[in-house]
Amino acid sequence: MINENKLEALKSIIASGNNFVIIPHRNPDGDAIGSTLGLYHVLTKLNKKATVITPNDFPNFLSWMPGTNSIVNFEYHKDKASKLMQAADYIFTLDFNVLLRTGDEMEKYLSNIDKPFIMIDHHQMPGDYAELTFSHPEFGSTCELLYTILSKLDFAKYISKDAATCIYTGIVTDSGSFRFPKTNAATHRAIADLIEKGIDNPQIHNNLFDNSSYNKLQLMGRALQNLIVLPEYNTSFIFLKDSDLKEFQHEKGDTEGLVNYGLSIKGIDFTAFFIERTEENIIKISFRSQGNFDVNKLARAYFEGGGHVNAAGGKSTKSLADTIDYFKDIVSKHKNEFYD
Ligand code: 5GP
Ligand code: MN
Repeated sequence: MINENKLEALKSIIASGNNFVIIPHRNPDGDAIGSTLGLYHVLTKLNKKATVITPNDFPNFLSWMPGTNSIVNFEYHKDKASKLMQAADYIFTLDFNVLLRTGDEMEKYLSNIDKPFIMIDHHQMPGDYAELTFSHPEFGSTCELLYTILSKLDFAKYISKDAATCIYTGIVTDSGSFRFPKTNAATHRAIADLIEKGIDNPQIHNNLFDNSSYNKLQLMGRALQNLIVLPEYNTSFIFLKDSDLKEFQHEKGDTEGLVNYGLSIKGIDFTAFFIERTEENIIKISFRSQGNFDVNKLARAYFEGGGHVNAAGGKSTKSLADTIDYFKDIVSKHKNEFYD
């Protein structure tokens, strides 16, 4: 349930404000870009000035989305981004729960800026930085939450075809094309409304999923060959070395969705995907689970991360081999502690 008083507060903020900045998390995905651009299109339709500022670059496979050419990248254009934030009446933060998800540098900047924030997010354990917080982990995507909020504000009429395209994209990507457990009747009703806005839904799927490079598929082949199963623990994992990424001229977004293959094996309820990120000196890890195995808790307890019950992420500063040994040790000793 979305709090009525908060909706009223949001309505008056949008009515009285003229200048908004909208920020997704670092390494934004389809839901992060979809929700921020979706809100951008709606605010623009309401004759407000709105700008999406991303902490860093967004992946190429989302560049077709309407409005991407108006996005300001904080990492590349700090002066411009700072001026925009200083001029804003309110700063929306979408699809993340704590400011650290924007990265070290942007977090420092946002923590020190004297501006009111509005959070719209579906991750667990929201921080308390925002004046107005819409934190709803029961939603499968921030885009569906945004759509629901806009409808309740009676703003659905301001959702253009472009806005609908962006919002649809986030729902598709965060629901694994409508198959993850939080997908419900309301999700499909929202999708039906968005289709009635005139979007080209087959083309959106095509843009998202049938646009791969040859190298991306070869990298996927390598990842699948690197898949290891630990049958006694109903667990699997995949890893990609820095040399694999270089061999196939890896681009941002090329590994998107690969983690799900580890779960597609019969009997597996927990999987992890380790990517060696040499430039950042970390191993980036994605976790996925089925049923009541809580990867959010495991990521928080052992890998400086977090997320949702069935999808979370984290990192390690150990080497790839040591990280995998550490992971196997945790699985063998502690896996049974994370069933809710
Ligand atoms: P992914 O594996 O797709 O990168 O992330 C899955 C989910 O976990 C996303 O909802 C994302 O927000 C969250 N997540 C990924 N990495 C991290 C992290 O390092 N810290 C936290 N707190 N959440 C993460
Ligand atoms: Mn999301």
